[in-house]
Amino acid sequence: MCGSMSPNAASATDRFAGYTALVLAHEPDGPAGQVGVRLEQRGFTVHTHVITSDYDNPQDFEPWPDLSDYDLVLPMGSVRSLTRKDEADWLEAEIADLAAAHDAGTPILGVCFGGQLITEALGGSIEPAPSATIGWRPIGDGRDGPNPAGPGPWMHWHHDRMVPPEGVDVLAETDEAVQIIRSGTTVGTQFHPEVDVAHIAEWGNGAPQEYLDEHGIDFPAVLAEVAENEARNIEQCAAFVDWYLDTVAFPEAAVTGGAESNSNGSTTEESAMGFKVVVDYEMCEGNAMCLDVAPEVFDLDDEDVVVLLTDSPGEALREKVASAVERCPKQALSISES
Ligand code: SF4
Repeated sequence: MCGSMSPNAASATDRFAGYTALVLAHEPDGPAGQVGVRLEQRGFTVHTHVITSDYDNPQDFEPWPDLSDYDLVLPMGSVRSLTRKDEADWLEAEIADLAAAHDAGTPILGVCFGGQLITEALGGSIEPAPSATIGWRPIGDGRDGPNPAGPGPWMHWHHDRMVPPEGVDVLAETDEAVQIIRSGTTVGTQFHPEVDVAHIAEWGNGAPQEYLDEHGIDFPAVLAEVAENEARNIEQCAAFVDWYLDTVAFPEAAVTGGAESNSNGSTTEESAMGFKVVVDYEMCEGNAMCLDVAPEVFDLDDEDVVVLLTDSPGEALREKVASAVERCPKQALSISES
């Protein structure tokens, strides 16, 4: 990942100094992971509130702080299912608070179960997926716009799926499920951008063996795959968080380069919805320069002609694609704003 999208981009640091984020962790092993790391790199103070501490006693919960005290709210994953709300009476209250925060313009970024909470807060519903999806899978464009996260692959670990209501944009999908929804400054993902080895190891250690057996999960193999993908995921997670902060939640901060205060700086302004990659196949001579720069977007076919893996890579990959366009020696590539 290049330029300011790099996880250690010094130029990005401090833009959000003075901003606060509240992570709603539904269990102790459900933190914001690499999403939280990137927020801190961008200057946020991140406060994590753990709602339940005992897997076997989900009714025993710690009431969360007033969401309006924060600039950004992040409801995260959970072992719970919104198809079984009777297991935890506080779930309806959390959904109501997220709905109120959304209505008040507080930016919300939800992950997996957090994305599902958002779906219900916006008036949608949750249903069991035809089968569990666990592992690394690519995601594609959504029915309402180009995928802003890039194709991945991203880590999936879900049994349910989002059924968004009318008026909520679906920006990414797989064959099995909606993957990214957006309404104003509220975004929910079904996949897990936050994972790293430490995070997944903690999940696995807490998972009952009977659950792993029931779903045929070879946990050491899952962990090995996370290790293989970790460095790449840290980069794509940082780029996704940057897209969310700079073009969805706080575009005015991206323009001005800083925050005046930590008051709720939300906006309902819509950002540009993406761009397309255009190839002049007659010009391509197949030297693979573009593959080196953006392997998520470009490949070569058997005749050494460039192939687009996606023509709408999403904002997270814009800098990489722009670099490929610039470096293509045959001027075979261009970007078209959509
Ligand atoms: S860099 Fe240009 S010439 Fe080389 S493979 Fe890519 S599109 Fe073709």
